Amino acid sequence: MPETLAPARHRIALVGAAICGSLSPALHEREAAALGLDYTYALLDLDHLPPGWRLRDAVRQGVTGFNVTHPVKQAVLGQLDDLSPDARALGAVNTVSVTGGRLIGHNTDHSGFLAGLRNGLPDARLDRVVVVGAGGAGSAVAYCLAGAGAAVEIADADTERANALAGRLTSAFPSGDITCLPPDRVPAALTHADGIVNATPVGMTGHPGMPFDTRALTPRHWVADVVYRPLDTALLTTARALGCRVVDGGAMLVAQAAMTIALLTTAAPDLDRMRRHLADLTTPGTEPIHD
Ligand code: NAD
Repeated sequence: MPETLAPARHRIALVGAAICGSLSPALHEREAAALGLDYTYALLDLDHLPPGWRLRDAVRQGVTGFNVTHPVKQAVLGQLDDLSPDARALGAVNTVSVTGGRLIGHNTDHSGFLAGLRNGLPDARLDRVVVVGAGGAGSAVAYCLAGAGAAVEIADADTERANALAGRLTSAFPSGDITCLPPDRVPAALTHADGIVNATPVGMTGHPGMPFDTRALTPRHWVADVVYRPLDTALLTTARALGCRVVDGGAMLVAQAAMTIALLTTAAPDLDRMRRHLADLTTPGTEPIHD
C-alpha cells in the first residue's frame, strides 16, 4: 500500500510584549483556513513567561515556527542557529523557522513593506525616497528601498539613530545613496523625492499628530504609512486631500504576514484575500468573511 504522509501541523507563536490585542492570530488563522492548512497561531506574551525563557522551550512544547516582535526582534538573535542574509544585514528578525531542530531567523518586515507598496502602487517611482523614523520599522523600510535601488534619506528625531541606520545600510549597499536628514529638512527634501514613508508611531492610536510638516507634499508624491491602527491616519487623510497617492500600514502588515505564512508552510497566501481579512478584522460590527 502506498504510504500517505500526515498533513503538516503548523503551531505558530508570536513572542513579544503587550501583544494581547494583536491582529496576527486572526489574520494568520483565517488565511491558513482558506488555504486548507492545519495551522494555529498563539500569543506568548513576555510578561507571562518565566525569566530566562527561550524559544527552544516553546519548540519542546510543540511550537513549529515563530513571529517575534517588539522588544525582542534583536534580542532573540543570540538564540538562533542561523540567519537569512537579509535578517543578518538588518540585525533583526520577525520570523523564526524551525528546521531539523535548528532555529533560523528571517525578516519579512522589509520584504513585506516593498510587496505592500508594489501591490498598492505598482508604478510608484522609487528613485529617491524619504523615510521618517529609524527604529525597527524604519530600518526595514529603508533597507528594502535601498535594496530596490532608491536613494534613501532618513530622518529621525534621534539623529544618532538615523546616523547609525544610514551607516548600517551603507555597509549593506556600498554603492547605494543613503543619507541622513534633520527632521526639519524633510519639507526641503520633498522637492526632489518621489515619495515619503512614515515609519514613526506618530498617528497611531495614543500618538496623535503628524510625523512631519506636510506642506511640501504635492500630487506627484506618494505617501506610505506603516501605522495600521488606525489604517486611515491623519497623515494619509491630509496627503490624499493634497492629491498624493497613498498606501496604508495595512499593506505592510498583510504582506509581511503572508510572507511569514509562505516561509513557515510553503503555501502561497493570497494578498488580496488577506487584505479583506484585515478590513473585516478592523471594521467593528462586521461578520467574519468566509472565502
Ligand atoms: P521604534 O520605537 O523602534 O522607532 C520609532 C522611531 O521614530 C524612533 O527612532 C523615534 O525617535 C522616531 N520618531 C518618533 N517621532 C518622530 C518624529 N515626529 N519625527 C522623526 N522621528 C520620530 O518603533 P517601531 O517599532 O519602528 O514602530 C513604529 C511604528 O511602526 C509603530 O506604529 C508600529 O506599530 C508600526 N509598525 C507597523 C508594521 C506593519 O506591518 N505595518 C510593522 C512594524 C511596526
